[in-house]
Amino acid sequence: MTEIAHFINNARVAGTSGRSQPVFNPATGTSDTTVALASTAEVDTAVASALAAWPAWSATPALRRARVLDRFKTILWDRADQLAEAISAEHGKTHDDAVGEVTRGIEVVEFATSAPSFLKGEFSENVGTGVDSHMIRQSLGVVAGITPFNFPAMVPLWMFPVALACGNCFILKPSERDPSASLLMAEWLAEAGLPDGVFSVVQGDKEAVDALLHHPKVKAISFVGSTPIAQYIHQTGTANGKRVQALGGAKNHMVIMPDADLDMAAGALMGAAFGSAGERCMAISVAVPVTDAVADALIAKLVPQIEALKIGPSTDKASDMGPLVTKQHRDKVKNYIDAGEAEGATIVVDGRDFKQDKQGYADGYYLGGTLIDNVTPDMSIWKDEIFGPVLSVVRRQNYQEAIDLIHSHDYANGVAVFTRDGDVARAFSNEIEVGMVGINVPIPVPMAFHSFGGWKASIFGDHHMHGMEGVRFYTRIKTTTTRWPSGMRTASEFVMPTLG
Ligand code: NAD
Repeated sequence: MTEIAHFINNARVAGTSGRSQPVFNPATGTSDTTVALASTAEVDTAVASALAAWPAWSATPALRRARVLDRFKTILWDRADQLAEAISAEHGKTHDDAVGEVTRGIEVVEFATSAPSFLKGEFSENVGTGVDSHMIRQSLGVVAGITPFNFPAMVPLWMFPVALACGNCFILKPSERDPSASLLMAEWLAEAGLPDGVFSVVQGDKEAVDALLHHPKVKAISFVGSTPIAQYIHQTGTANGKRVQALGGAKNHMVIMPDADLDMAAGALMGAAFGSAGERCMAISVAVPVTDAVADALIAKLVPQIEALKIGPSTDKASDMGPLVTKQHRDKVKNYIDAGEAEGATIVVDGRDFKQDKQGYADGYYLGGTLIDNVTPDMSIWKDEIFGPVLSVVRRQNYQEAIDLIHSHDYANGVAVFTRDGDVARAFSNEIEVGMVGINVPIPVPMAFHSFGGWKASIFGDHHMHGMEGVRFYTRIKTTTTRWPSGMRTASEFVMPTLG
């Protein structure tokens, strides 16, 4: 068994806590590696190395910091396949899907290379006679990111390129279920010229997370994961005086209006519901056809496509989707389908009996695509995030009923409407209380130069990720007011200073 290590001071460092856990290949259900689980002392070592590196890194001109990231970007493009293979081996997603994840992550690095531009401050000349005022953005210091299993490269890449470009030192605590991508990226950052201590990886679980949340020298925490943990991270981090952005779970609806192009909507639903086996925070897990006639026609188009899904290992180029990440998670998703059936929903396509017949993969954590009709808002399959290849259909009879359904959910990450009516599309995008909206776009993940984040129970904290929101999160502003001798007043002033 090899053990996946930490990365501190630009080197892989073996764990010393004595704690570790197995990492599985979900395609085969086997494990030949473990991941080290950091102790508080190991987290302290990483913070100390980051703290030592911060003065020089924050004083490095933004252009030079950007050049390191530019070299890192080139390495990522050159080795995207290698990174994708490491992702698929531990996560299970198809190779092309993993390459897509890497590409979306690289886009954030591209954005971060424009640091000299986005770190430009503001200057106001002559705010009072002979007085000027300017605002600059300075780094926070040591910041940390805690990331989920479902995007082991992209989600860390939402965070650290922007944080580093802004002059911070970054500690990444990746998911213990697929930890290898983080180490590759750490090594490639070092190869790109990032100085020792500026970027570290501590592998681990709750102990490492709690050590980061309580460490007085960690100034900010970025988190992406499930809502209960996001809430815990936000509460604990802010109680310890940290800036926190914590993105949580999701239940994303797609409204299909009667005038929608149904072939287009069905095709979009297939990718959005079953791509990555539904393990995306922007997956569409609820279709909301408006009118029964639309529901019936849509289901008729979906059924043969779901039945034809090719489910297999990432190494098989023909696979549309892979296994779920762990056996426990696969069983949890199955239990939700059982619950939906018991609660009175109609199982139209049942993925529970799927058997993987490719040799060597029978013990992988596979589940077939599942379609459930007549789902109602009192059912657990509507209320909870399932995070698997399960698409629920909640029928609604008009636009307003569809809006009311979406607004009654606690989560508000992404949403989509399929329609040809510009008025409906405009009203939807205006009034819907969800953070990311697609108009005939099923997975409206914002580009890197915009910002990613939901509303309501899908986020805790004020800042979305990457784009200018990321820059705001990872910097604090300082405003300096300057008077030069030609503008000096000679008399002492005891009243509140006013300029003008
Ligand atoms: P998770 O909440 O179980 O884990 C996320 C991170 O938190 C991991 O690094 C994990 O080690 C850590 N963690 C887990 N339990 C903890 C505890 N008790 N105390 C402290 N830290 C703990 O999430 P996951 O299963 O890895 O990822 C799937 C979830 O992430 C889904 O809910 C999905 O919607 C969400 N997600 C959200 C977004 C978004 O942008 N909103 C993006 C991707 C994933």
